Formats: sequence, structure tokens, C-alpha cells
Amino acid sequence: MKFDAAVLHAPGTPLRVETLDMAPLGSDDVLVRLAASGLCHTDLEVIQGSLVYPMPVVLGHEGAGVVEAVGSGVTRVKPGDHVICSWNPHCGHCYYCEHGMPILCEPYTRHQPRGHLMDGTTRMSLDGMPVHHYFTTSTHAQYTVVPQAGAVPVSRDIPLDRASIIGCGVMTGIGAAVRKARVAAGSSVAVIGCGAVGLNVLQGARLAGAARIVGVDLDPRRRERALAFGATDVIDGGDGGVLDAIRGLTGGRGVDYAFEAAGTQASLRLSVEVARPGGDVVWLGKVDVEREVSFRWGSLMGEKRIVRSSYGDAHPSHDFPWIVDQYLEGRILLDPLITARIDLDAINQGFDALARGEGLRTVIVLDPGLLRP
Ligand SMILES: [Zn+2]
Ligand SMILES: [Zn+2]
Repeated sequence: MKFDAAVLHAPGTPLRVETLDMAPLGSDDVLVRLAASGLCHTDLEVIQGSLVYPMPVVLGHEGAGVVEAVGSGVTRVKPGDHVICSWNPHCGHCYYCEHGMPILCEPYTRHQPRGHLMDGTTRMSLDGMPVHHYFTTSTHAQYTVVPQAGAVPVSRDIPLDRASIIGCGVMTGIGAAVRKARVAAGSSVAVIGCGAVGLNVLQGARLAGAARIVGVDLDPRRRERALAFGATDVIDGGDGGVLDAIRGLTGGRGVDYAFEAAGTQASLRLSVEVARPGGDVVWLGKVDVEREVSFRWGSLMGEKRIVRSSYGDAHPSHDFPWIVDQYLEGRILLDPLITARIDLDAINQGFDALARGEGLRTVIVLDPGLLRP
């Protein structure tokens, strides 16, 4: 079958919307007709060249749509199901899957960086030339083929544009609070960086019942938004008094849980400083992989626990439907996270805006007819 997709041929060049061929389905494959897909910083890293990936490639790892067809071995979904794509599918029987860490699934971590699906092959081509998959999702397209563990069925009641952003940014933030850190009811939390991921950490902390939730950001508009997403207090990250202000809100100790979601040297340093002795530090932000990060040794003392979270300890088959229910029951916000909706043809302008730091999530509407059930 033929379908349109945004193809990246080389870093630093514009994406081109081209008509690709999709090979017949393998036994574990799910063909998804995509309704919507978000633009995420991890896509932008490939365009800018800081994340090296095989080319040509169809980017996009935050998408939702409707199952069009399934391979002979697929049992978890059927045509017509509404699904959110997971960018971290797992095999279910390797070392890490059996040790409860599906995010580190070995077939996935072996094949995904090569731009292949879990079986080590590709399905997409352009004039006979293979086109690579991105994180096994490639959602900046009218259709995608994903492994069945990467197509998670959810309620038909959620509009698919809202559903799409659950696949990366929302899961990453809420999961960091609820799954990775297991924020306790009544506890204190600081979130440094209140962009799309940080806002979701805030609402994850609120879901978990944290009593004091402090949002830290340089931008007054972001601090204002943080209050809507669950922050009980906000602090200007640029005024130099963040540590004192947080200690002032927490009996002089610092917070039980400190989350870093800004991705700068300064915010990584600050995250360790503001956690109380015995507290938890969770790093979500990213700096260049070759970059060194330094800390004041004294800030690391006091039995602190530091963890890196990339997908919020996600177990998508449970967590995506659970997050959808939280939305449908009014306990989390998704609508204000989507600050722009564009057509696939406008994808380059969308990434330009992301690079300038504008808005929260831009969502490509791939099939307006599918947005409402
Ligand atoms: Zn596995
Ligand atoms: Zn992402």
C-alpha cells in the first residue's frame, strides 16, 4: 500500500512529505491509520543532528490512531481498535522483560537504534529504497506499522489528538512521579522546568496526593501554567534564591522528591541541592551525550537517591489506559498541553517553532475524520 509521510533524508535539511510503500504485514505487525501525532524534542534532536539515526527515516514517536489491519499472530488488538503508539515496545521474555524492566528490552534496544522493527527489518520504502522506522513508531505519516506490544488499545471516548500526546510527553512526566519515584501522599515535591514534561510531573504529583508541589521556572508564563497543573507554589528559577525559598516551604529540610525537567547544567545541579537528606532526585531532562555535568560534592551527601527516568518506568499496556481514564474523569489536563494543531505539510514550520521554544505541544492532525469517534 501507498501512504504519505514526512521523510528526513539528512540532518539539517527540511523534512519532505513523500509517498512511500508499506510492505505486507509480518505476523506480529499492526497497521495503524494515524489520526494525530505530536512533535517532541527527541524528533528535533535527529533533525538537528545531536541524536544520530539511520537515514532516510520517518520521525514521530507520539501518535494515536485506529487499527486498520493486523498480522496473523496478533492477539492484543483488532481492526477498529483505538490505539496509542508506545515508542518502547518489549518482547516479554528477554532478561530485562523477565526482571520487570520492559523499557530495557534487549531485542528493542538492539534493533531500534538501527531504525528497524523488533524483528530487525523495515516495512517502509521509497522507490525501492528502504526507509527507516523511528523508535518503532514513525508516526509523522498517514499510516504506520508497529509491533503489537507498541499498539496499546484505549477507550474510544478520548479524542485521538489528546490521546496521541500520552504516548511520550504525558507518560514520561506522570510516570516519573507516579511510577519511578512513587511519590507518597502528603509529601513535598519540586519540579525544576515547567515545560510539557514538567507540567506532567506536576500533575502526576497531584494525582499521587503530594501536599506541597513547587514549580520552578525562569518564564513567568510557565510558572502561571504550573499552578493550573498542580503546583501549590511557584518560584522564579532565575532569582538565585531557589534553594532558600524551597527550604522555607519545607521546614528548612528541602523537598522529599526533586524532579529535573529542564535539561541544563544549572538545573541538574539545583535538583540535587533542593532534595532533603534521604530524599529522591529524578532526572528527566537531557544534555548532549558527550557533555560532562558537575555537582558540588556536599550536595550529593545525606543518603540521597538519584535516578534517571526516560519513559517514567512506563508499562504502557497498563499505564496508557489508566492515564486515559484519569483524563476522562477530569483528574488530569491534556487539552491545554496542545498549543497548536497543524497539517503534515506544515511539519517544518512546526519543528522551527519547537526549536524556538514556542508553546507546549504541536500536534499534526493526520486524519481529521478520526479525531472524533
Ligand atoms: Zn524483552
Ligand atoms: Zn518524546
